[in-house]
Amino acid sequence: MQKSVSLHTLGCKLNYSETSTLAGKFSEGGFAVKPFGETADIFVLNTCSVTENADKECRQIIRSVLNSNPDTYIIVTGCYAQLQPNEIAGIHGVDLVLGANEKFKLFDYVNNFEKKNLSCVFTSPISEVTDFDYAYSSDTDSRTRAFLKIQDGCDYNCSFCTIPLARGKSRSLSINKVVENAKKLIDSGYKEIVLTGVNTGDYDYRAESENQDYKLVDVLYELEKMDIPRIRISSIEPNLLTNDIIQLVKSSKNICRHFHIPLQSGDPEILKLMRRRYNRDQYRDLIYKLNSEIPGVGIGIDVITGFPQETEERFLNTVEFLNSLPASYLHVFTYSERRNTFAVTLPGRVDTVERRRRSGILRELSNKKRLAFYRQNIDMTHKVLFETVREDNFIYGFSENYIKTRVNADLKLENTVLNVKISSADSFNFAEGSIAA
Ligand code: SF4
Repeated sequence: MQKSVSLHTLGCKLNYSETSTLAGKFSEGGFAVKPFGETADIFVLNTCSVTENADKECRQIIRSVLNSNPDTYIIVTGCYAQLQPNEIAGIHGVDLVLGANEKFKLFDYVNNFEKKNLSCVFTSPISEVTDFDYAYSSDTDSRTRAFLKIQDGCDYNCSFCTIPLARGKSRSLSINKVVENAKKLIDSGYKEIVLTGVNTGDYDYRAESENQDYKLVDVLYELEKMDIPRIRISSIEPNLLTNDIIQLVKSSKNICRHFHIPLQSGDPEILKLMRRRYNRDQYRDLIYKLNSEIPGVGIGIDVITGFPQETEERFLNTVEFLNSLPASYLHVFTYSERRNTFAVTLPGRVDTVERRRRSGILRELSNKKRLAFYRQNIDMTHKVLFETVREDNFIYGFSENYIKTRVNADLKLENTVLNVKISSADSFNFAEGSIAA
């Protein structure tokens, strides 16, 4: 009888893309892939180390899977599995724990998927994690937007982050493979490719046979030549957003005028404690440069509240700094302690209730910025890729500069790119528009 598997992902788009790859491997191996929540013979949980209470979340999910079928063979992988394999192996019901190097080779470790009263753990030291596996995922069941993994790992040393410990050194997919995979995605109907990685801007591939180094801008040049309706960069560190990339986006017809650029704090002292690779002035200059070079550019900013030693005054420095920047929205994260990071050793912890209060303030600011950005675009025409979410006669999509746009249309617009004239914006949730010529 055909065995079945269900998979579940915690964390980022990269994790989602890797879960899709794992699902594909099961499918190729003759397994039926079932949606998460349905009873299956095997359950794979792809974990995240950024998730607060990763341990608790892991336990809860595994318990609920075993409640519906106590015989389910449980596999746990992902960042948390690499960082705390023995802790996971101690969770009741876990059969197999796979680290970063082992996750895509699971059939090398197990083939009969029969439960025993013992968990097996296969991990390698993070210094030995060098594999790069093709991965992509889409964020809906549609073929609208695919997240294509081009880079993994990180060589930076931000003081709050465990990702380098969980995913290892920075490594990149060969440029030929990126092009090949992008072509496959477009041929299968996707309209937008989002280039994804842990530190995507650090893409660096050395083609020995050509004696040539390829950077992210080279990947963008190659993809730009192809017939891809839209290309987007998922997120890029400010120090890696080079003038070459800016100029290419400025002149490109298919690379989206949208950047997601982590700031993390607007206070100079906190930035230093975070060990970020830029200062406040450099960040400000970049945001202004983007606005002057690429009119209408959409800019999202990541920011963390409640980092150790973030006094009220320092927090207000961040608020004021963000307020002054011409950016379109914020992604706000509340700081939480991670084992084995420099940040947990710092004195001056901020109370957790206070951390959340600060996050609330910045989320309000984000809503205001988003609405203001939408309103700046009224009467402008943008190319919108329509998604599959429909409500009555309304359909939604995103413009190239990342405005969520709603159009009243009963036509079949799903997964098409059309010109839309923005007509109004009454809330930060979406702007209203109509199909333009
Ligand atoms: S750049 Fe910093 S925050 Fe981002 S993955 Fe690397 S270490 Fe973590």
